[in-house]
Amino acid sequence: MTNHRERQGMHEEERDDEEQADTEQELSCPYCGETVAITVDPAGGAEQEYVEDCPVCCQPWQVHVEVDADGRVHVWADAADE
Ligand SMILES: [Zn+2]
Repeated sequence: MTNHRERQGMHEEERDDEEQADTEQELSCPYCGETVAITVDPAGGAEQEYVEDCPVCCQPWQVHVEVDADGRVHVWADAADE
């Protein structure tokens, strides 16, 4: 008598989804000119704007995020304090 059991251990399957939870982008500070990496969330919308302080010189950025039709993320910062 043969007791045949199959175990399913398929936890190592990885998928390369095009969706990304968030992504790191580099931008140049409009005040001090330093290149700074920030994390943006493309799922937050195709166009986003928010104010964030530069981690180098602590000046306020007006951060712009745009996601184009190909899913590429564009990030830049303007001086928020004008
Ligand atoms: Zn700065």
